[in-house]
Amino acid sequence: MMSHQFIPKRAFFEPKALEYPIGQQVYEQLQEMKVPITLTGSHNRITGIPGDTSQQAYQEAKNTLVVGIRKSLDFAGCKPSAHYQLPLTTSCSSMCEYCYLATTLGKKPYLRVYVNVDEILGQANRYIEERAPEITWFEGAATSDPIPTEYLTGLLYNTIEFFGREPFGRFRFVTKHDRVDSLLTAKHNGHTRFRFSINAASIIDQYEHKTPTLIQRVEAAAKVAEKGYPVGFIIAPIFYYPGWKEEYLQLLQELDKQLPKKDRSDITFELIAHRFTKRAKNNILDIFPETKLPMKEEERKFKYGQFGYGKYIYQKETMDEMKKDMHKGIHTYFPHAAIEYFV
Ligand code: SF4
Repeated sequence: MMSHQFIPKRAFFEPKALEYPIGQQVYEQLQEMKVPITLTGSHNRITGIPGDTSQQAYQEAKNTLVVGIRKSLDFAGCKPSAHYQLPLTTSCSSMCEYCYLATTLGKKPYLRVYVNVDEILGQANRYIEERAPEITWFEGAATSDPIPTEYLTGLLYNTIEFFGREPFGRFRFVTKHDRVDSLLTAKHNGHTRFRFSINAASIIDQYEHKTPTLIQRVEAAAKVAEKGYPVGFIIAPIFYYPGWKEEYLQLLQELDKQLPKKDRSDITFELIAHRFTKRAKNNILDIFPETKLPMKEEERKFKYGQFGYGKYIYQKETMDEMKKDMHKGIHTYFPHAAIEYFV
């Protein structure tokens, strides 16, 4: 059984978005769904999302969809995982306490979709040509989880097929969601790496609100692997707690149980141990005052970062132990998988 669908409580449209077929189509669909629609100036300045407290504003924003045009066609860099970010969507409907976007999207992380996908992909094509015959990689989830809005827009579908046709372009994105059926028929040509962000079941339960369960995600991964997509798993953030070893091992066992044996020739893993910055901690406490996330500075090691954003990571011995055990577990169940990094 798939998890439930994102149904916005309200939507805002830039009038220009209605000049694009996808904008029109989303508009009609939302009208049918009886979602209240307001026309707005710019997708960057949305007023009219209710909420007196930070918690309410956050929740209401997560139920708000803004349909707009991506004006700036300069793509941001995305080192080290890709050359460029591909701007298709922003934010997502889930409420993970440790969401990596919490510090960048501000107090009202409403969902945005950009309907001028042909122009966006046209720009991607120019970037690809500049580097050809070198391969250019694009990341589709740098500022969002792109799956919750996919059933309305088809943006990923279009993008996957675009990269399927590009000899020198490659696409990757990551999701915590399981509504992947519409993407199973896309002609990907092996050029899109379909990654799932997963965690120990109890961690998902405790911190990843409004997301599909581990089992649902793993089932979705099995479906896309069966359709020949290169797949990847981001296990993040990995926590160190009593029983962590067993629980992360169970996670790998669950993957092993579900993933078809014949579709394992090209699997990647990315591993990220839990860390936090002061700023992220303050944001999290603002929105989730009751959070049980382990964020005691004195237990961690401080690592200086760029622009003064130092982060609190696990102590070296803990990191070493986590790395060793995670590598061992992955090698046991997926001897041919590539572990891209552990940080
Ligand atoms: Fe953030 Fe991803 Fe969770 Fe959405 S699913 S709230 S983007 S961590």
